[in-house]
Amino acid sequence: MAATSATSAMKYVLVTGGVISGIGKGVIASSLGTILKSFGIPVTSIKIDPYINIDAGTFSPYEHGEVYVLDDGGEVDLDLGNYERFLDITLHHDNNITTGKIYQQVISRERKGDYLGKTVQVVPHITDAIQEWVNRVAHVPVYANEKPKVCIVELGGTIGDIEGMPFVEAFRQFQFRVNRENFCCVHVSLVPQPKSTGEPKTKPTQSSVRELRGLGLSPDLIVCRSETPVGLAVKEKISNFCHVAPEQVICIHDLSSLYHVPLLMESQGVGQFLSDRLNLNIATPRPSKFMQKWRDLAKRVDSLRKEVNISIVGKYTKLEDSYTSIAKALQHASIAAGYKLKIKYIEAANLEKQMKIDNPVLFHEAWQNLCKSDGVVIPGGFGQRGMEGKIEACQWCRESLKPMLGICLGLQASVIEFARNVLGLKGANTTEVDPKCEHPLVIDMPEHHPGIMGGTMRLGRRTTSLKPSVIRRLYGNKETVDERHRHRYEVNPEYVARLEAGGLQFVGVDSTGTRMEVSTLEEHPYYLAVQYHPEYLSRPLSPSPPFLGLILASVGKLNSYLSKGCRLSPRNQSDESSDEEEMKIKDMKLTNGSPEPKCNGIAIDTLTVENGH
Ligand code: GLN
Repeated sequence: MAATSATSAMKYVLVTGGVISGIGKGVIASSLGTILKSFGIPVTSIKIDPYINIDAGTFSPYEHGEVYVLDDGGEVDLDLGNYERFLDITLHHDNNITTGKIYQQVISRERKGDYLGKTVQVVPHITDAIQEWVNRVAHVPVYANEKPKVCIVELGGTIGDIEGMPFVEAFRQFQFRVNRENFCCVHVSLVPQPKSTGEPKTKPTQSSVRELRGLGLSPDLIVCRSETPVGLAVKEKISNFCHVAPEQVICIHDLSSLYHVPLLMESQGVGQFLSDRLNLNIATPRPSKFMQKWRDLAKRVDSLRKEVNISIVGKYTKLEDSYTSIAKALQHASIAAGYKLKIKYIEAANLEKQMKIDNPVLFHEAWQNLCKSDGVVIPGGFGQRGMEGKIEACQWCRESLKPMLGICLGLQASVIEFARNVLGLKGANTTEVDPKCEHPLVIDMPEHHPGIMGGTMRLGRRTTSLKPSVIRRLYGNKETVDERHRHRYEVNPEYVARLEAGGLQFVGVDSTGTRMEVSTLEEHPYYLAVQYHPEYLSRPLSPSPPFLGLILASVGKLNSYLSKGCRLSPRNQSDESSDEEEMKIKDMKLTNGSPEPKCNGIAIDTLTVENGH
């Protein structure tokens, strides 16, 4: 890899973590990208996960949260979702590096004899492979063929972890290969405020910065995460003890919404600092509309008053991260509709009849929560546990006319429920749960290879053709839409005619016409199920249409939205919203310099232009 010093060279921002993980390093890293993007600089990102797994595909959601799926079918860490949502970019599976991927590459090179009989070692072979990978992937366009100029690299875990060491050493070398003006390091650390005194403590940050320096990396910015705002004295103390200037210390306390994070960072001069440090030649003074869309979005979220209550009937409800993208997609849709989102996670197994005997308290609590909600999401999932509970929830939503969105396994559950209770096929099931069931409504796809779990599903972005229907109108009347998939089973084509004759319509199919993608019930306010995962393409300013439909139906506004040509007027929004607010949202779009998003979401202007035309 050739060293380069040209000012047009790729710029790297390495983001490391100190003290503990789980303090929002991903959001801080995405916010750095957001600030740079607001200056008109194309940004890409790489997430490094120092575990041995090749990818996140085989992860249990209980342990790691959701598996995030990319356009190219990559099954990656959920942090990549932060970057795609914040920066409105499309990442590739190589943008997620794991120790497993690096070792797999080095070992296969060794087998081919590429190392010419040398001893293959962590240094230099693994560290070189890391640097080559980062250098290669950083240049790959992630937005409309535009070459990125800055690459944000987030190193998972915390400094000092054994697993992270080869990566830290790789970047220690990398900083010299690419030259100082092309590389900087941002260290995100915790400033705890123990309850006893409430006083912010800087010692953990001092030690983690010392550790980072000991490994050969110096922080250019130290981002201090705290519960409540910390005073100037803390900034000065960290500056003194960590050998950086006060303007290199950025303090980020817990905020009402994550849309405030880029704003709070920018208010402390982060954009200017990065521009100077990396010779980015950002024009100063900044335009007055700089970061306006984020400011408006943050303000709008804070001003929402009327609530919409949505239940997620899932299986991995103990860890909310298991449904991160669904929660985000619901949030985007609620913000667009002008409602404050309240999510209840309901354990599907608790809705099952057996639970009434085993644990009546949990059973009644689960049903009470379901009944109290305005709308229901039946999310994706795997395996037997909770499946009957999901089927129960589908039946209840169908019969009580409760708005429902079924996703992937949710679609499969709703089809089985319909076959059992409307068509009278009592032995209906999925072969995933009961391979010998009497009526296999949901069957293995030919792509499924039993026995191999990793990377054997129907994955990634695929096209669905939509028939005239409510969902097609929600998608802006597009005849085809592209969404991301992750499944092994599909609706059995042999039962489709019977299901349709009974009233369950398949209004979306794949390009062959045999794979069912979208089902709906005409005589229901909103009973939509999709085989794909629309949550992955939702963006804060461009909500996913199936989610927007659910939220609007849940607050009784779907019909007026559709009858007004899919435009939200102040009357559609919560009572507190006004013409003035509507104009503000329109401004958000106008100040957003980026081209139209490529995803299926509806850009926010189409939700708000009614009075303007
Ligand atoms: N387990 C089901 C399948 O593999 C659904 C998968 C999902 O919900 N992502 O088809």
